Amino acid sequence: MASIQAERLVKRYNPGAPPAVTGIDFEIADGEFVAILGPSGCGKSSTMRMIAGLETITEGTIRFDGKLVNEVRARERKVAMSFESYALYPTISVYENIAFPLRCRGESSVEIDRQVRQIAETMELAPLLGRRTKELSSGQAQRVGLARALIRRPTVFLLDEPISHLDTRQRYRMRQFIKSIHRDFRTTMIYVTHDQEEAMALADRIIVMSHGDIQQIGTPEEIYERPVNAFVAGFVGEPPINFIDGEVLVQDGEFHFATAGQSFLLPHKVQATPGRMRLAVRPAWLSLGSEADHHLRATHFVTERLQDHNILVVDVGRTRVTLLTDPTVVPQDGQNLYLRLDPDRILLYPPDRSQVAADDDDS
Ligand code: ADP
Ligand code: MG
Repeated sequence: MASIQAERLVKRYNPGAPPAVTGIDFEIADGEFVAILGPSGCGKSSTMRMIAGLETITEGTIRFDGKLVNEVRARERKVAMSFESYALYPTISVYENIAFPLRCRGESSVEIDRQVRQIAETMELAPLLGRRTKELSSGQAQRVGLARALIRRPTVFLLDEPISHLDTRQRYRMRQFIKSIHRDFRTTMIYVTHDQEEAMALADRIIVMSHGDIQQIGTPEEIYERPVNAFVAGFVGEPPINFIDGEVLVQDGEFHFATAGQSFLLPHKVQATPGRMRLAVRPAWLSLGSEADHHLRATHFVTERLQDHNILVVDVGRTRVTLLTDPTVVPQDGQNLYLRLDPDRILLYPPDRSQVAADDDDS
């Protein structure tokens, strides 16, 4: 197992083009499960392939346990990558596929048998050991691939979107397997995904990337509760966070947030500065209040009824806002509603520049 340190890491494929990875720093502890999360093209795979040794490092350093590995070849880094799961040998048994790395290493057949049966048990593959891999479902084949990668006891296990091609149900199952593998093997794991839910469900910490740069590194809770900027706030969470553009005003020495012809007092703990701001609030952090006790007035647009909760979509001025409610709450079309914000969970960000430009055009 190994810890990993990256410093000022840059990947440039073409001298003329902007770099795919722009000089990032991060540290991953021994045995940690870290997800690299971000939209397609943000540099996740480039970062992972530099860690694996499959891509040259343009600038900066990568260390395993403090030892520089920039020039160390992939096979000597003892990393396993999930793509190996696609390269199963179709005509030999599941057993022999899993045993293959140990046979190459010249282990005794007694030792091979012990290890193959142990890992097959963990991964619920024991009943399939005699099958040929071409007879397996894609979820089963994926587990065989993971078992074969893990049996080598890699120092670092790298998974690049390993389950994005599976259907929803299989994805849930594989997610749980991957989590249990980490619990049982304690291998340092790096998991690349564009799916925020996967990252939140699996990782000890998440590295959020955009445009080749790191936006935030934190635990799932930190990323969800205290996103450092509007990009992270908007990328994580489902239904997505609400952004409400408005202005922070000072009245009688206190900060108020004004939007769509109404305003409310910001709780004292909210760090505010006067001027145009974007307020961000998650659907689960909003609730319905009363006319006497509310922060924002809204009108009902539609309600999605999801049995164990409802998703209310409402309009605050021209801004569409979603909130989660009890399934018994079903407002009438166009009904006036009163929204309350959780005072501990109000986020403020600088204004969206395109919004400022549009507002300036209006005036
Ligand atoms: P992600 O995995 O987050 O989708 P990648 O690391 O694959 O992102 O890609 C980051 C950027 O680098 C993209 O703009 C992509 O087009 C570019 N890129 C990736 N691989 C290559 C390559 N082999 N040659 C040239 N450009 C590449
Ligand atoms: Mg990728």
